[in-house]
Amino acid sequence: MDRHSLAIIGAGPAGYTLAQELVKTNAFDIDIFDKEKEIGGAIYTGIPDYRMPKTFLTKAYEGLVENGVKFHFNTEVDHALFEKLQNEYDRVVVAIGAQVENTFGFDTGDGLYAGLTLLYDLNINHNHDDYKKYHHAIVWGGGNVAMDCARSLVRIIDDVKVVYRRSEEEMPANQVEIRDARKEGVVFNFLENIKEILRDENGQVVGAKVVKMELGEPDESGRRSTHEVADSEYVEKADLIVMAIGQKVNFKPLHDSLEKKEGHVSSLENVYIMGDAYTGPATIGSAVLEGKALAKEIVQSFVE
Ligand SMILES: Cc1cc2nc3c(=O)[nH]c(=O)nc-3n(C[C@H](O)[C@H](O)[C@H](O)COP(=O)(O)OP(=O)(O)OC[C@H]3O[C@@H](n4cnc5c(N)ncnc54)[C@H](O)[C@@H]3O)c2cc1C
Repeated sequence: MDRHSLAIIGAGPAGYTLAQELVKTNAFDIDIFDKEKEIGGAIYTGIPDYRMPKTFLTKAYEGLVENGVKFHFNTEVDHALFEKLQNEYDRVVVAIGAQVENTFGFDTGDGLYAGLTLLYDLNINHNHDDYKKYHHAIVWGGGNVAMDCARSLVRIIDDVKVVYRRSEEEMPANQVEIRDARKEGVVFNFLENIKEILRDENGQVVGAKVVKMELGEPDESGRRSTHEVADSEYVEKADLIVMAIGQKVNFKPLHDSLEKKEGHVSSLENVYIMGDAYTGPATIGSAVLEGKALAKEIVQSFVE
């Protein structure tokens, strides 16, 4: 096979697994671009060290560098750079993850945070001391991001509650995470949802208006629907509220008309989409499988 050039945008598990697979063919010159200063994507920025030591990322990085892969860290790909990559490389792979957080229109600040922002502040900026001024925290959500937020905060603040609108059985977070959070002192308010963020006259968060929920029949997704219980609202006191209520993908920072088409092939010629950016928020295992699958597709695309 002739040599081909490949630009990968995103050094998360999807992007670096793709590179690991393709270096085995000895037929690709690979450049990986990432806005962060290290390999690992959400594993690096989101998952706290106490839960997952990162030595395997260092090994992955060193192995790739030894095999000639070039990393361009601290490099955010914008429209201009994306166009340049499209012009200069045989293939461009978008592995930017699903890192845009849902905030349901609430304005963050003064005690209201989005989950990934909080985790970045703790894991990367090491700003733990900034959170010592808070005394009562609510984490809103029931996934792994919510668990990481709650478990990180309970190491700093004594009173940390998780508000989740379904029951424990429906929680998407890993069972082990829920168990460990509980052991560490996190309190769970199941079948409750936040309706309103309450602030004082200076704009500082002082609590949340919470409503009790009940489960109904399964909806189209197969999960049981949720309904508010009439006249069940109450105020939960909190000076810190963290929203961990889902993430989505946004291709607009790269190109206005980039979107998923069929399989990993995108709407733009020779541009592929993979990992969480393709599947939506998923898991490390799924990102790794994505990397392996796309490596085969890309090799095949040069054979056809
Ligand atoms: C807090 C948290 C906890 C999690 N816990 C678990 C868990 O316990 N188990 C599990 O299996 N999964 C977990 N996950 C999910 C898992 O981490 C992700 O599914 C996986 O990392 C997705 O891999 P990816 O490579 O597709 O994207 P990501 O890991 O999101 O990597 C995307 C990379 O793209 C870079 N990027 C984005 N935009 C640009 C741009 N314009 N220019 C340059 N670079 C860019 C980002 O900096 C990032 O490094 C968790 C996720 C989070 C956030």
